[in-house]
Amino acid sequence: MQNEQKPHHVILATHSNLKYKESLPVHWGAKNPLSRAPVVASQTDTTKRNAIGTHSGSYTVYRALSVASGKFSPLHKPDLNNTESPVKIGPYDSWFDPLKIVSIDPWGLDPLVNFKPLFDQGYDIRPTIAVTQARLQIPEIYQAIEKGRLKPDGKIILQNGDIKITKVALDPVWYLPGIAKRLGVEEGDLRRTLFQETGGMYPELITRPDLKVWLPPIGSSTAYIFGNPQDLSNPNIELTCRVHDECNGSDVFGSDICTCRPYLMWGIEHAAETAQKGGVGIIIYYRKEGRALGEVTKFLVYNARKRQEGGDSAATYFQRTECVAGVEDARFQEFMPDPLHFFGIKKIHNLHSMSNMKYNAIVGSGIEVVNRISIPDELIPPDAQVEMEAKKAAGYFTVDGAKSKEELTKVKGRDIEEKK
Ligand SMILES: [Zn+2]
Repeated sequence: MQNEQKPHHVILATHSNLKYKESLPVHWGAKNPLSRAPVVASQTDTTKRNAIGTHSGSYTVYRALSVASGKFSPLHKPDLNNTESPVKIGPYDSWFDPLKIVSIDPWGLDPLVNFKPLFDQGYDIRPTIAVTQARLQIPEIYQAIEKGRLKPDGKIILQNGDIKITKVALDPVWYLPGIAKRLGVEEGDLRRTLFQETGGMYPELITRPDLKVWLPPIGSSTAYIFGNPQDLSNPNIELTCRVHDECNGSDVFGSDICTCRPYLMWGIEHAAETAQKGGVGIIIYYRKEGRALGEVTKFLVYNARKRQEGGDSAATYFQRTECVAGVEDARFQEFMPDPLHFFGIKKIHNLHSMSNMKYNAIVGSGIEVVNRISIPDELIPPDAQVEMEAKKAAGYFTVDGAKSKEELTKVKGRDIEEKK
């Protein structure tokens, strides 16, 4: 380990003659992977880097801790043998439009296949997308089978109730000109704000405008596919899709203040059922906890909602978030369709989402949506009625209509149980 340490002096990447000398220029959207060039953000040979930041999203900090504590060699190169995807995905036309996919790198899947000659030249290229297979064991699915809503078929749903799926992990890789364009801001202003608001984490955002790709230290996304992943790109095959933003409290712990887990499970049930009928299903899970404001903010908002005069009511749902966080929502659904385009999706027959922000982003990105599916009333926990009615009144999609202002004040959540 000791002889594998890097030199202790620090070379700032802001001097183009000292770093990135031998790097490959990235032509985002180019048709051929070799002319597009891989994103090289590994740290083992800094002269070859062509991107700002490094791999693994938020986990990059844990990697640094492992190196700092002497448990991990900074010069370790992954052995990628046998790590490739069990199913071929793409390339699709959407990969060749530089503005269609801007927040992930489609060629980050199986670089050993796409960039073999460059590996042979010693480039340390890391995957930013990985695909594997698994089986889901979910209590709600076992219940759906018991109640006769789902039937095991031995192919998609096994006799014991497990569901066979393919899952795809997608790390963030941002093409900054495309990110700026989606937000409708100048790239220079975006780069300056990212630099300033992260406390100056990435000086190259300012000093190296020639580097267009940044790997931000944020959460990743995961897609769960029911049926054949290659069918996702065929608009003639029925596709059921849910785009779900992380809610750890509900998704994992079953917390009853919102509808996240019930809606997610309903999506999984319908996705599996669609695959059983010869269609295909996909659930995409985005690590954007608490509307990308974070869990600390979210819990503060819960308390503020429950303690406000008149108690927690649907009429003041969004207001309380904005008072605490300064903004109602920071998820930027503009980027959400990128994974859909990675899979070549052109048409969604059943979209499980009531959010107009999500619907508009998907349709605006050129994907056709046939049916919008809202959560059935019987799946909504009583304390989550506040969230549901507030969202409907704010214009979320609903088949049975939103409540009036007067009615909204009557939709109340449980009081906080204080101990002083
Ligand atoms: Zn939730």
